[in-house]
Amino acid sequence: MIRTTPTTSAASPALRTLRKALLRPTMTLSVPSTRAASTLRSNNNSNSRSTRKQLTSTRQQSIFSRPSTASTSSLTHRTFASIADATPEQQAEADPLLTEPREADEVDVAIVGGGPAGLAAAIRLKQLDNEHGSGELRVVVLEKAPEMGAHTLSGAVLEPRALDELFGPEWRDEPPEAITLVKNETMRYLTKSAAIPIPEPPQMHNAGKNYIVSLNLVVKWLAEKAEELGVEIYPGFSVSELVYDEETGAVKGIATNDMGVSKNFEPKDNFQRGMEFHAKATLLAEGCHGSLTKQVIKNFNLRKESDPQTYGIGIKEVWEVPEEVWDEGFVAHTMGHPLSYNTYGGGFMYHFGERLVSVGLVVGLDYANPYISPYQEFQNLKRHPFYKRVLEKGKCVSYGARALNEGGLQSIPKLSFPGGALIGCTAGFLNVPKIKGTHTAMKSGMLAAEAAFAELQKAAAETEEAAEEEESAEETSEEAAEEEEEDGASAPWKPLSLESYEQSLKDSWVYKELYEVRNVRPSFNTRLGLFAGVAWSGLDTLLFKGRVPFTFHNKVTDAAHTQDASKFKPIDYPKPDGVVTFDLLTSVSRTGTNHDDDEPCHLRVPEQDLDRHAKAAWPKYKGVEQRFCPAGVYEYIPDETKELGVRFQINSQNCIHCKTCDIKVPTQDINWTVPEGGDGPKYYMT
Ligand SMILES: Cc1cc2nc3c(=O)[nH]c(=O)nc-3n(C[C@H](O)[C@H](O)[C@H](O)COP(=O)(O)OP(=O)(O)OC[C@H]3O[C@@H](n4cnc5c(N)ncnc54)[C@H](O)[C@@H]3O)c2cc1C
Ligand code: SF4
Repeated sequence: MIRTTPTTSAASPALRTLRKALLRPTMTLSVPSTRAASTLRSNNNSNSRSTRKQLTSTRQQSIFSRPSTASTSSLTHRTFASIADATPEQQAEADPLLTEPREADEVDVAIVGGGPAGLAAAIRLKQLDNEHGSGELRVVVLEKAPEMGAHTLSGAVLEPRALDELFGPEWRDEPPEAITLVKNETMRYLTKSAAIPIPEPPQMHNAGKNYIVSLNLVVKWLAEKAEELGVEIYPGFSVSELVYDEETGAVKGIATNDMGVSKNFEPKDNFQRGMEFHAKATLLAEGCHGSLTKQVIKNFNLRKESDPQTYGIGIKEVWEVPEEVWDEGFVAHTMGHPLSYNTYGGGFMYHFGERLVSVGLVVGLDYANPYISPYQEFQNLKRHPFYKRVLEKGKCVSYGARALNEGGLQSIPKLSFPGGALIGCTAGFLNVPKIKGTHTAMKSGMLAAEAAFAELQKAAAETEEAAEEEESAEETSEEAAEEEEEDGASAPWKPLSLESYEQSLKDSWVYKELYEVRNVRPSFNTRLGLFAGVAWSGLDTLLFKGRVPFTFHNKVTDAAHTQDASKFKPIDYPKPDGVVTFDLLTSVSRTGTNHDDDEPCHLRVPEQDLDRHAKAAWPKYKGVEQRFCPAGVYEYIPDETKELGVRFQINSQNCIHCKTCDIKVPTQDINWTVPEGGDGPKYYMT
């Protein structure tokens, strides 16, 4: 039976106090907060080991009582995003504060990313621990959003299969806010002015079984459940580095980003060195195209036997609409207009909550024409009568965008690496024809949690056995034991292997459902585009159900699909009407996004040489970056003083963390890295 009784409810107020304190970047020593932190620890793990207490108290000191350290150091070549990326010379030149050793906390499992996958993993771990273990397992979730859910953007129609497995059907007794059962649905092919009903593929069927949700509210709800079970959740912490074990090369944990670093890479008054979490297992749950995931895939060659990942960008708004056009529980999916036959994608409209409508467009990032603007295509979608009729008397309350995986089964990398594993969309479990990835993300997290728990139990049993053997052989003298205790020496760190997660995923319904649809998305990649795709998908999903002896492959990255601008004509998109369509900056203002002006730019090009990037990209792609970015971060500004006649500019403050630039830039020289924790969008109802 799944245990849902709160085991650590007493810890929650303390946790909240600690979190508030940690989120205040300019905070100086505050006694109540420090006390709150130690209360948190002792409440959370009443039998905590003394080493942990020691680490915790040094950590509190480091975070809460660092003296003001305005630095006068001058660093000449500040071209790195984090000190870890700097050359040895740059490191030597940097302010010593930036390179001083970080405090480290020891936990059992560290989870990077508090989305559906990370939280499902954390919940499953604590359920198992509370039922079959000591109840003291330390499971930590680090999330870059300022509060849980604030970086979550989805459609979203939620298939409840994983939720049912995690909590039992009883979760419906106290469900997340604004959840709405799908009542009726339609699939339409849009011409410029008509919306022609077309048959719905069986996997798209939602009515009576799936729910329309705001995934950011679902995430908040999941975080509360996780806290009740004893998971330690830290929003407002960007994880910028993986910590590797020197001896084995395995991932030994993670490090959070330094706070209070100026854009010139100098520590400011509020500087706080990042913190390490050393873990027996590290789960990366960063969502689509995770920045640390990119590193582990490379470092451990995890994509050796899989195709490149391919992506789409989803752009979405939430509207409040009048009663007369609102149809509670209505779901619509559209194909065709505004996208051309050779651009993959489609629109959606979901009526949910209290007179709320989610409307959005997904555009496959394998488009060839660099003049396409997914943002402007979305505006065109809303101009269509099928959408306009619902929106024109309403009010847009939210805007956002996020990349999603489209590569399917053949693009999933190896899931485990020494010391950890990839879970959720960072590995790529989205079912493309369904446009659903939340249920598969959650299930993968739960399976990884089960594998980790089994390995932790095994390791604990082995340690106990070894200790008993040692004792019975009377090899350890009393003095030696005392010495060991004084030194605080403990068993050497050993990476856990999560290989068994790989197998349990293969045996699960996640694999089965992705296997069945593996050929659907790649079938749109022929010269016949939409027409061949629709024909093949119909046959495959209705008749073959994936039982064909071949698999279509994704051979080329989305960046490489982009073609020379000289082959296309610029697209003249209409001006916004301010009623259903908006200019980009008005939309960005609805994301609540914010990044400190005086922090290192988190969008990295080599040596931050913007002219070099412009020289490589502008002549061929004529400003593709300013069109694919849904937040106006990249600009080419006319500038006579430049050889190209334009100056490339990065307005990193506007970034909404969708990751599209890192994926689509044809020159592949933009690297999205995490900004300071708590920066970025503050999504509402998305
Ligand atoms: C437009 C759109 C429509 C969609 N529609 C649907 C739908 O209708 N139904 C459905 O089931 N699915 C849908 N999906 C997919 C669904 O949103 C994802 O499958 C799901 O969110 C994946 O969960 P996740 O936990 O793996 O990743 P995410 O939800 O992306 O969560 C990852 C979390 O990790 C955090 N993070 C990332 N890196 C770091 C770091 N280094 N340090 C700290 N924190 C970090 C992020 O801030 C984020 O909170 C849609 C997606 C999009 C974009
Ligand atoms: S800069 Fe990159 S990650 Fe940020 S909003 Fe633009 S495309 Fe998305």
